[in-house]
Amino acid sequence: MQIERRVVAVTGGARGIGAAVAKAATEQGALVAIGDVDTAAAERTAKQFFGLALPLDVTNHASWAAFITAVEEQLGGVDVLVNNAGIMPIGPFLEETDAATQRQLEINVLGVLLGCRAVLPGMLARGRGHLINIASMAGKMGVAGAVTYCGSKFAVVGLTQALTDELRNTPVSASCVLPGLVNTDLSLGLPRNRLAREVEPSDIADAVMATIAKPRSEVWVPASGRVSFKLAGLLSPRQRHQLMHMCGLDDPMLTADGAARASYEARIAAGNEAGDVDG
Ligand code: NAD
Repeated sequence: MQIERRVVAVTGGARGIGAAVAKAATEQGALVAIGDVDTAAAERTAKQFFGLALPLDVTNHASWAAFITAVEEQLGGVDVLVNNAGIMPIGPFLEETDAATQRQLEINVLGVLLGCRAVLPGMLARGRGHLINIASMAGKMGVAGAVTYCGSKFAVVGLTQALTDELRNTPVSASCVLPGLVNTDLSLGLPRNRLAREVEPSDIADAVMATIAKPRSEVWVPASGRVSFKLAGLLSPRQRHQLMHMCGLDDPMLTADGAARASYEARIAAGNEAGDVDG
């Protein structure tokens, strides 16, 4: 799809990967709307690239309806939806609260499904469209300390694969983007080294732009992740741990720097209590 003059909607676009995708799409001539529960941050971000910021809670059906209506009125029908909003509280499974479990599944999984269903009828009627779901490499291999998060990202990989199959005879494409470690608030305090190489939000944005131009069902960023994960999949869990240990990466999600993550964890925990992240 030629991106110029196309309408691109990005969820969770106030910061991080979503903001980078929105900026890149604007630079390539798209009409961009970002939706986020943190409306103040979304407005600040949209101002930087003259985009449109709108309130959106991806877990809420009525919020999706209002968001899509506002985008259609102000920019036109959505051609590309980037389902990016997501949260990642980490720690031992038994220490995760029920509210945190539910909120992760609502934002990371339900939010993606509601988004796809909100825009698909319009895309099919207009004869073009692209659903781009931001999953994670954590959606290909489960790791200790991120049980619910990994489960939610496996779900995004699976639901996108199923959508691709279901939409194969239509003019609408579905793609899943699998970032590794990205330099945003969400990954604060996680150990980095040669094996867990960090990429920038702009790298994910570049991959999303390339996928809009030439749809692919699965996009790994960095691309080397695909091979590493394939090889790691050949090892037993015990061998994988030995390899991680040799690389100085023992249980990264359980050994993350809590102080460095405090502001992020507080932001998403506030959302768990309020039923509204960043409230
Ligand atoms: P981030 O915390 O920087 O940004 C996430 C944005 O989503 C925030 O602006 C937040 O307000 C918004 N959001 C949260 N709940 C929402 C809701 N209910 N409705 C609308 N917006 C909501 O995080 P990020 O790193 O930019 O993550 C973006 C996506 O990329 C997530 O799906 C995440 O799982 C995925 N991802 C991130 C990394 C990484 O290392 N940062 C790696 C793999 C995948």
